[in-house]
Amino acid sequence: MKTNIVPFGPVNIGGSKFAVIAGPCSIESEEQLLSTAKFVKDNGASILRGGVYKLRTSPKSFQGLGKSAFDLVKLAKQETNMPFISEVTDPRQISDLYDLVEIFQVGSRNMHNYELLKELGKTDKPILLKRGLAGLVKEWLLAADYITEQGNEKVVLCERGIRTFETTTRNTFDINAIAHVKQFTNFPVIADPSHGTGVKELVAPISMAAAAAGADGLILEVHPNPSTAKSDGHQALTFDDFKKVMTDLNKLLHVFDKTI
Ligand code: PEP
Ligand code: MN
Repeated sequence: MKTNIVPFGPVNIGGSKFAVIAGPCSIESEEQLLSTAKFVKDNGASILRGGVYKLRTSPKSFQGLGKSAFDLVKLAKQETNMPFISEVTDPRQISDLYDLVEIFQVGSRNMHNYELLKELGKTDKPILLKRGLAGLVKEWLLAADYITEQGNEKVVLCERGIRTFETTTRNTFDINAIAHVKQFTNFPVIADPSHGTGVKELVAPISMAAAAAGADGLILEVHPNPSTAKSDGHQALTFDDFKKVMTDLNKLLHVFDKTI
């Protein structure tokens, strides 16, 4: 099937360009966000990620800076000129986030939040729809339909790993899902090997596997000092790790006539 091209700002997802979205799991400080944004941009990322509102398993864990991250995001965008993606966890955040993000991210825990999907379907911005942690591919595609039914066709799917009986890794990255979406749907698909594995050493090999299976891009968590990260430090790439993934990706993508 032919993949839709989802345009936003200067970047497209779904064409012969491979989109690399990178940045911290959570935005923590000006220094953390700006240094990461500049580094990932200088090394080929085209879209900046950063959690503002975080859906954490424990209510005692860091919940994100919320509105106090907005000025940091504006600064990072000004300094790097990168489009920005962040998760919207509640329909009441849509209007505030609208002016801050170029792409709305729907997190895994919200794939079944149909009211949120319907509201996002009324906007004109691209939506990165993550697969639910126990979502069937069929349910994920129906969730995408909730957005498109409202008139917003700019849906990009994101495989981020699913729960299986295996506990060696945080999740089991479902490479089949990438190939399935490419073969049988028109949606572009991005791979998230950070959450898909939960282990920073596995992010590089699974990035390559996803690119080889036809993914239209990656979303990668990067942190200047992962051991101090307020969320997902164990799966964050250091700057050096990120640079190495980008070098390897460039070599691999050549085979598929794609470029970053
Ligand atoms: C994230 O991208 O930081 C995130 C919370 O992802 P997921 O919804 O896939 O768990
Ligand atoms: Mn994360």
